[in-house]
Amino acid sequence: RQLGVPAAGTHRKRKAADGLPRTVSADLGVPTVHHTVTDYANFDHGATTPALVAVAEAAEQVQRRYGSVHRGAGYASQVTTGWFEAARAQVADFVGARSGDEVVFTRNTTDALRLLAHCLPRDTQVFAWESAHHAALLPWAQDRTTRLPVPTSEQHAIQLLREALERSPEGERLVVITGACNVTGEIWPVTELVAVAREFGARTVLDAAQYAPHVEIDLDVLGVDWVAFSGHKLYAPYGAGVLAGRSDWLDAAEPYLPAGGATSRVHHDHTQWQLGPARHEGGTPNAVGAITIAAACATLQTHRATIGAHEAQLHGRLRAGLAAIDRVSIVEVLGDRPNVGVVTFTVEGYDPSLVSQVLADEDAIAVRDGRFCAHLLCDAVVGDGACAIRASLGLATNGEHVDRLVAAVRRLVEHGP
Ligand code: PLP
Repeated sequence: RQLGVPAAGTHRKRKAADGLPRTVSADLGVPTVHHTVTDYANFDHGATTPALVAVAEAAEQVQRRYGSVHRGAGYASQVTTGWFEAARAQVADFVGARSGDEVVFTRNTTDALRLLAHCLPRDTQVFAWESAHHAALLPWAQDRTTRLPVPTSEQHAIQLLREALERSPEGERLVVITGACNVTGEIWPVTELVAVAREFGARTVLDAAQYAPHVEIDLDVLGVDWVAFSGHKLYAPYGAGVLAGRSDWLDAAEPYLPAGGATSRVHHDHTQWQLGPARHEGGTPNAVGAITIAAACATLQTHRATIGAHEAQLHGRLRAGLAAIDRVSIVEVLGDRPNVGVVTFTVEGYDPSLVSQVLADEDAIAVRDGRFCAHLLCDAVVGDGACAIRASLGLATNGEHVDRLVAAVRRLVEHGP
């Protein structure tokens, strides 16, 4: 355990009074900490996930004894610095970093994409679909961003990109690709879009906020130049995220946070800045955030196949159950695509906020209603200014939860609130 990333937690299986496992993830050998009085059905993984046991243990271990990161010679400082850098290595492994790639710890996906926007060479043209989460749509200079309409299929998305790149002048270009849509859960055709971008010499960044918790990331295989994701959607705490990928644009840019840690030498008339991740990690970093993200990465890497099978099975059951209810419409953008475990829907005649309130109050079911920081997507596929209900499953969701949600929506439709 010395100077390393704390190992995954031990298997803990909690039984509720009714004999049902507290979380199905414990059954899968991927324990979560999930202390609840009632058996709470968590369908809000798309927003924030509960902590894995390995994450809680890593946090506890760091909190028990920590020192300054890269700023001290004492034992605690050395240990924490070691953990922090080991965390960076673990995250590099998690994303399949290539030689020359770097891992920068940020606050979250929003901050990671903002950091990349800050590092773009002058006059870089950016291409983003209007279906993107606002964190991926808004950080770029508006006058150099081409917004592609919300596509209606995988082929349409590819065609829209090709046409936009064909029309665009030569020069540096960046294509912003959503790994998995936060409204529909649909996984985007990442490698196909990267291939088109590459034909035109454009670089790519993958918004993996929804993708990383569910699908393996391999920068080499996907071919994207950068990937961004958040700890709090990856079964780790709030306040830490990652931007990983090519170092050249990052090293050439002004530091994102010009401060201590980012400097190599300050003179009266000029400052020399660090190269590598330190250049953009000014100030004392969120070491607990980084170390716990790494613990989550290690656990997810170990259990990917099991988790994927579990989520696919629950997703199929949820989707089929909801689709079979009269007056329920499921929201889609690309249509028939693999999915990270999200079903977003509307119930004809019911305000989405009423539906989510009834689910929470009567059935201890947590969903989210609204427009999911994707207003243009909702305008296009739900209705102008319209909201929907999102059920996003993950390691804290089990089959009984799925059946409960489907039964609760059916009851609402058949008998009213
Ligand atoms: N991108 C996607 C696809 C998201 O779903 C989210 C959050 O919901 C974000 C980016 C922003 O993540 P964060 O709020 O952690 O910065």
